[in-house]
Amino acid sequence: MIKTRFAPSPTGYLHVGGLRTALYCYLFAKKNKGSFVLRIEDTDQERYVDGAMENLIKTLEWIGLEYDEGPRYGRSCGKLKQKGDFGPYVQSMRTDIYKEHAQKLIDGGHAYRCFCTKERLEEMRDMQMKRKQAPMYDRKCCDLPESEANAKIEAGETFVVRQKIPYELMKFKDLVRGNVQFHGKTIDDQVLVKSDGFPTYHLANVVDDHHMEITHVIRGEEWLPSTPKHIALYQAFGWDVPEFAHLPLLLNPDKTKLSKRQGDVAVEDYIKKGYTKEAIINFVSLLGWNPGGGEEQEVFSLEELEEIFSMEKVHKSGAVFNIEKLDWFNWRWKKETYVREMNEVAKEIDPNLKQEKDKRGNIQFEFSSEDLKEKFLEAKGIRLLEMCEEHLDTPFKTDREKLLKALITVEEKILKDPKETEDNINFYYTLPHYQAELLTHEKMKVDLSQAKESLENSAKFLKELDAWTEESVKQSLFKTVEDMGVKNGQVFWPLRSALTGLSFSPGVFEIAWVLGKDETLDRINHALDKL
Ligand code: GLU
Repeated sequence: MIKTRFAPSPTGYLHVGGLRTALYCYLFAKKNKGSFVLRIEDTDQERYVDGAMENLIKTLEWIGLEYDEGPRYGRSCGKLKQKGDFGPYVQSMRTDIYKEHAQKLIDGGHAYRCFCTKERLEEMRDMQMKRKQAPMYDRKCCDLPESEANAKIEAGETFVVRQKIPYELMKFKDLVRGNVQFHGKTIDDQVLVKSDGFPTYHLANVVDDHHMEITHVIRGEEWLPSTPKHIALYQAFGWDVPEFAHLPLLLNPDKTKLSKRQGDVAVEDYIKKGYTKEAIINFVSLLGWNPGGGEEQEVFSLEELEEIFSMEKVHKSGAVFNIEKLDWFNWRWKKETYVREMNEVAKEIDPNLKQEKDKRGNIQFEFSSEDLKEKFLEAKGIRLLEMCEEHLDTPFKTDREKLLKALITVEEKILKDPKETEDNINFYYTLPHYQAELLTHEKMKVDLSQAKESLENSAKFLKELDAWTEESVKQSLFKTVEDMGVKNGQVFWPLRSALTGLSFSPGVFEIAWVLGKDETLDRINHALDKL
């Protein structure tokens, strides 16, 4: 069975790159009916950040990346618990296992104790730098006889355990990068156990991946140079080597490595700013992967990604982190959720509702009665008001019925940015100021006299209306067009401009519906006074 793991170090809050790794590990496991493990790699006690583990776990939970094994906080007691049979999943709780394995490596000649002092190592490094050599341990302690090493220990000398890297060509196939090779001679004899007895990342990581039966190690590209060291460890222990996949770097738009300096990188910051989890997942999934096959589709839910994700489609080159794209996904997902919610509401209100897709693929509803339609519109308005209410000043709220209608006409804009709502609906509340020229349109063949004639006729037909709905306004204005023997635009343009005083606005039927009969006729008269 395929098993992946996300193995963050709690040295800070979960950042976007970490989330991308977690997501790809999760998706690869799901796609292959495998399981996904969370393991906390907290062996570096100096870099431990208080609350970081809690933040990692909570953020993964919030975003919906459920893991089959790993540490989690009990719902009622809030205590740290371990889920799964291979735990504990927090490395600081497993130190005995690492000590035992370090000893096995020493016994097998794959590791050695190094007693070199800090001063000696610094001197050695300075010398190497002067000679323009890569800084590497010179293996002074590598062949220290066992008896000498024991004597030093007895004398109270501190030591680290170093890996004895085999001096040979090491080749492996990375699932993203293809064939990769390193020569052992270019690799430092890595410290596996520090002088405080704590293992380093390298030892703990390999020991745990083996014992937790991880089949696929999926992680950021920065770990690629560590891989030959890890493979050497697997071989030294006589264990099967897992598959490796190194994910491309995340870049700022200027192609430098993604950094805090150019904006937020902590997932929590995006959550606080109100980005939805669907948008974050969708956006992060495409940082270094796409489904390929010339597909245009970009909007994917987590469930869809679980079906289509594949490692072959992960890119080698760095992925640019573009915040505008995240904004776009946020808007798309908000819209998707809102549309879905409204479909449910419509069906609840009218069980005999008919639905049809229009040319643009939007679902149009046909309600069995005008009353039910009104009820639905009211529910829709209320939902929109919830989204923007905090950004609306009291005067807008005095006529609730009008407000709800007004909001419906600018729903797309509310979904995009609820803070702008006042600006977007203001024209419904203030008599527009404009020059008579706004009523004209050269291409549509509307000059001042045409505008006058159209407005007079529109007023005549609209005045006759008893029931004032969007539909009745529409019928009446089409009748006006027919009666005058002109093109639609020749009536609709001057009327829409007269009602709004704007070059761009929602459509004329809905505007008239929001304004109501009296206000619509008043605004037409106001326009006629200019002509
Ligand atoms: N603890 C490492 C990190 O913080 C994990 C690297 C790996 O997945 O092997 O990224």
